[in-house]
Amino acid sequence: MQRMATAVRTFDFLVIGGGSGGLASARRAALLGAKAAVIEHGPIGGTCVNVGCVPKKVMFYTASMREALHDMKSYGFDVTLKKFDWAVIKKSRDAYINRLHGIYDRNLDKDGVTKIIGDAKFKPSENGSVVVDVGGESYTAKHVLIATGGRPIEAGVPGKELAMTSDGFFDLEELPRKIAVVGAGYIAVELAGILNALGSETSLLIRKDKVLRSFDSTLSNMITDEVVDSGIDLVRNTTVDKLVKEADGTVTVHVVRDGAKASLAGYSHVLWAIGRVPNTEIGLEHVGVKLDDRRNVQVDEFQNTTTPNIYALGDVAGKYLLTPVAIAAGRRLAHRLFDNQPNSKLDYENIPTVVFSHPTIGTIGLTEAEAKAKYGAENVRVYEAGLASMYFAVTERKQRSVVKMICLLPNEKVIGLHCLGLGSDEMLQGFAVAVKMGATKADFDNTVAIHPTAAEEVVTLKTAKKD
Ligand SMILES: Cc1cc2nc3c(=O)[nH]c(=O)nc-3n(C[C@H](O)[C@H](O)[C@H](O)COP(=O)(O)OP(=O)(O)OC[C@H]3O[C@@H](n4cnc5c(N)ncnc54)[C@H](O)[C@@H]3O)c2cc1C
Repeated sequence: MQRMATAVRTFDFLVIGGGSGGLASARRAALLGAKAAVIEHGPIGGTCVNVGCVPKKVMFYTASMREALHDMKSYGFDVTLKKFDWAVIKKSRDAYINRLHGIYDRNLDKDGVTKIIGDAKFKPSENGSVVVDVGGESYTAKHVLIATGGRPIEAGVPGKELAMTSDGFFDLEELPRKIAVVGAGYIAVELAGILNALGSETSLLIRKDKVLRSFDSTLSNMITDEVVDSGIDLVRNTTVDKLVKEADGTVTVHVVRDGAKASLAGYSHVLWAIGRVPNTEIGLEHVGVKLDDRRNVQVDEFQNTTTPNIYALGDVAGKYLLTPVAIAAGRRLAHRLFDNQPNSKLDYENIPTVVFSHPTIGTIGLTEAEAKAKYGAENVRVYEAGLASMYFAVTERKQRSVVKMICLLPNEKVIGLHCLGLGSDEMLQGFAVAVKMGATKADFDNTVAIHPTAAEEVVTLKTAKKD
């Protein structure tokens, strides 16, 4: 019997990955008149909606409630926390995410984007053709976008399967009794902070002496102190050797700490938060798309891969692993391809970011060390002010705050702004506009303060820091 050749469905724009970047790009392309499709093998919305920003922020709010309850006594309220029921917030959180799935699906329909469900892989190329296979069906397009995101990694140690990753955190059905979080990056700090605030006995195991070491040193130092003061057991200079399940069901974490072998016992849960890898196992070798030395898809400033008409963006391209970055890059790419805007691309300079730690961090631009390395210490002036948020004026529980501004001489252009403290997550967005526009310290000073707020400190910084 003669085999029938399967028909290849053709689009203008074929997007692999229905996460932040892929959905934004496909929808914008469709609005610009392109025949667009998105291929997704998991729940719609990708990491951010399902196992990232969204459920994390819900849990951050939950943790903040617990902290506020503690502070209420100082404000004169006679409240006693009888019980925290993890199952209640887990149910509401899952329901919220389900609603988001519905909204995302309806938005695709509304904009006329075809949704293809399944696992996408590039097929071996015939005559330079680019064909994507999804469960035996073939698809092609004038332009193909790789927006497959990334996934969390586990340490390659014996017993690694006894621990979960951040994905597993969102499946937890109850608050862990005692947990070891391994990692010093923002996901480790955020999840450890949430668990600790909600009442888990929490250890944070870090390889060096500080958390968030890629942030400005003032922030890194202060948040490390805050982690300790909040009651988290910060285990420094430690690498995990192996995990062992004991007869009583608990996990012992065997480590090398300050060069000596040690063990930390009695954990009900262990969580790896040690980094993420891009999802690149999609047959890229068949179409000549190259990876960089960290196995991210190699792209230029226009998100072009090494193969014409194939693009990549978001986490799979490895630069600023943030939802708004993936969305912005995706929309700009759509305008370049379908809106006759040949120079449309994302400017990756001055991208603001927030850490939902306790207290929160908001930051944009260069750190003090980066600025001095780039421009020379003599050309950089740093302003810094520690402050006490008025919220804590009457509370038993205290948290630090700091604002640090990095300025480039001679006109004191603001090239870095770093805030830690209650409210800095919400506060930074507006200041980021000013920094992006090239504001100077004088522009900040010329802005009348809003009182009493923590943000007013940013426009009233007086003393330059001495080295
Ligand atoms: C715990 C956590 C907290 C975070 N918090 C924040 C935050 O507060 N703020 C922030 O800005 N960012 C946050 N992030 C990062 C943010 O989630 C990512 O940067 C963002 O989701 C990246 O978008 P993307 O489109 O590149 O990839 P993703 O959103 O991961 O989407 C990729 C999609 O591709 C699909 N896919 C992969 N391979 C295939 C295939 N072969 N076929 C079909 N489909 C495929 C996946 O299923 C997925 O849906 C957080 C991440 C984590 C893990």
